[in-house]
Amino acid sequence: MGPVCRLCRREGMKLFLKGHRCYSPKCPIERHRMPPGQHGDKRPRRSSDFRPYLREKQKVRRIYGMGEGQFRRYFRVATKSKGVTGEALLRLLERRLDNVVFRLGFASSRPEARQLVTHGHFLVNERRVNVPSFLVREGDVVGVRQRSRALPLLRRRLEEAESRTVPDWLVRDLAGAQGTVARLPEREQLDMSVNERLIVEYYSR
Ligand code: SF4
Repeated sequence: MGPVCRLCRREGMKLFLKGHRCYSPKCPIERHRMPPGQHGDKRPRRSSDFRPYLREKQKVRRIYGMGEGQFRRYFRVATKSKGVTGEALLRLLERRLDNVVFRLGFASSRPEARQLVTHGHFLVNERRVNVPSFLVREGDVVGVRQRSRALPLLRRRLEEAESRTVPDWLVRDLAGAQGTVARLPEREQLDMSVNERLIVEYYSR
């Protein structure tokens, strides 16, 4: 993904892509450094009617660390589901296994969660799943593989998880190093300042 702090500076908000640094005073957003580039905040930016739609789409795509093609495919799926498309899109993104691992506090960022999943450290309903885009369902149990719990990184993350809050739609069992998808998330349970309607309009143009 390259120097990821640039992405936050471009969007003018924290996208939480670097784990602990994101919560420290070292975060460039905390130091009011935006947009990216040495003279980023001095250079006037051309604005257009199109810009807010594009920026909102890019912001969400970057939060979840996805390529344009993959993001567009999620959007297509969301348009076919019942209910409001923007909300369906966010719900789909939240159901990704790497996101659930991050939300459970078992990784310090979504990129780290993605790597841990890819390396096979997580189980879904007792079966090893190494696909970060795997979509969890209501009732699924996501847990750290028994053997992986001894790894220093995961041991540290499990200790740190105690201080991380978990959204209402997930139930965490720290002693068992696992969490259950109690229900699929509703829009109001997603703590993100995102205007998903702009994304829908972006793709509907
Ligand atoms: Fe960098 Fe994290 Fe701050 Fe974003 S939130 S600018 S990734 S430290």
